[in-house]
Amino acid sequence: MTAAAFQVSTRFPEIDPNTQYQHFIAGVAATPSDGKTFRCLDPYEETEWGFVALGSAADVDQAVRAARAAFPDWANTPIAARAEIMRVFANLIREHVEELARLQVHENGKTITEMRGVTSMLPALADYVRHLAINDHGAALQPTAPGHDAWTRPEPIGVIAAIAPWNNPLLLLSWKLFPAIAAGNTIVVKPSEVTPVSTLRLAQLAHQAGVPAGVINVVTGGRETGQALVNHPDIDKVAFTGSTGAGIQIAKAAANRVLRTTLELGGKGPQIVFPEADLSRAIPSLVAGLISGTGQACNAGSRLLVHESVYDEVLAGLRAALEKVVIGDPLDPKVQIGPLASRPHYEKVTGYFAIAEQEQETTLLYGGHSGAALGGGKTGLFVEPTVYATPERTSRVRCEEIFGPIGSLIRFGSEQEAIAISNESEFGLVSGFWSQDVDRIARVSKALRTGVVWVNTWRAFGLNVPFGGYKLSGIGRELGPDMIREYTETKAIWLGHGPLA
Ligand code: NAD
Repeated sequence: MTAAAFQVSTRFPEIDPNTQYQHFIAGVAATPSDGKTFRCLDPYEETEWGFVALGSAADVDQAVRAARAAFPDWANTPIAARAEIMRVFANLIREHVEELARLQVHENGKTITEMRGVTSMLPALADYVRHLAINDHGAALQPTAPGHDAWTRPEPIGVIAAIAPWNNPLLLLSWKLFPAIAAGNTIVVKPSEVTPVSTLRLAQLAHQAGVPAGVINVVTGGRETGQALVNHPDIDKVAFTGSTGAGIQIAKAAANRVLRTTLELGGKGPQIVFPEADLSRAIPSLVAGLISGTGQACNAGSRLLVHESVYDEVLAGLRAALEKVVIGDPLDPKVQIGPLASRPHYEKVTGYFAIAEQEQETTLLYGGHSGAALGGGKTGLFVEPTVYATPERTSRVRCEEIFGPIGSLIRFGSEQEAIAISNESEFGLVSGFWSQDVDRIARVSKALRTGVVWVNTWRAFGLNVPFGGYKLSGIGRELGPDMIREYTETKAIWLGHGPLA
């Protein structure tokens, strides 16, 4: 079959499915050294598109060399010049939000509403980071020894390896890419094999904005490409977002060379409903926490802890709200749940239906179906929003990150019990609770062991508010006023200017 045999999708007429996508190295397209390619999947139509370069260790080496060669000039570029390029980059992204959002929908099947929303945040983040970089400074320190002065100086770390997941490819990459380059580092990006094309397009826009050749390089490929990047001897830091399993492997590889790491990993967020909660606000939020991104979100609220006094009312409200959820083509702005991103992921998520059946005390409360028909068509990797009662502490449905719209409903009797259940998870990314009791709000927000605690809200984000996890959810923080610190070293400089004692 010739490549020209693939027909243009009526849903994405702007994209020729026969396009060859190459790596982006040293400012130009670079063919894979061994000629291998892989294909993207549109998870709604279940059709393949594009031929994407599959990165080998040799391709990774070429990209790291390009980043290393570009580093001295970029690190020494005056901050005003780097910041001006970031400003132009932000404006170019602003002009291309719709194109970038549609590309991501084509790749991962997330709804156009979500992809438009998150992609629209990128220009503001680029502007915020630009100002952080301009205002990043060391300190002149009070002399502590006779005849000496000392000061500190933030310096870029060097070549950053950034590895991103598919569930929010550009947003999560921007949390690494923007501060890394604003601080004067160069970078090699390895996007997920599910979402390579949107990242290549972002890199082109950066280049068009004036980011010099070699400062941003993209090598596409899968896990092995990522491993080759982490194991490359000439990188200085790994910034990774993905599963906890892969994060642990990366942390082990990094430990051998004391590489700096930022790891943003999995989650199993508890949403707690206390007796005095305003249920008219809490129930829609429980639903949103469960289904946003079709549950493919590290910040999903997949453990629903409900006080026994309001349990029946909340369950009835959940059922009524879930019945109204619109499943279908993610390009339709009315659709709230699109398909899962890939067939292997769909198999993993629907595998929890069988796991739940085998668990003695786990009972189905809502949902439990999957398949194309849910979205009203013949294709589509759809999973119905599903809620199980999981009273057993060791239930896999209750403990494991499913990364689909499947939640656990857990009844509790006291505040202490709710805190204990929340904190028994090995994850510690996000948590949230609903309460009108100010004393309880003060106590519980301190007691929860997660990097983010949402009180009477869920999934609130701000570019100036740090995000990251406790425990197996990761190391380091992205966003917030210190985000640029993850990409600098602090050097202390001493100046002796008198007779030495
Ligand atoms: P994944 O770990 O399978 O893959 C993530 C990326 O790492 C991909 O680019 C992949 O090719 C690469 N990779 C996989 N194994 C690797 C290895 N051993 N060495 C180097 N690279 C490797 O994760 P995913 O399925 O793409 O994403 C879903 C996961 O990401 C979920 O666990 C989710 O919770 C997590 N996530 C976390 C956050 C956060 O901010 N904490 C945000 C989004 C997603």
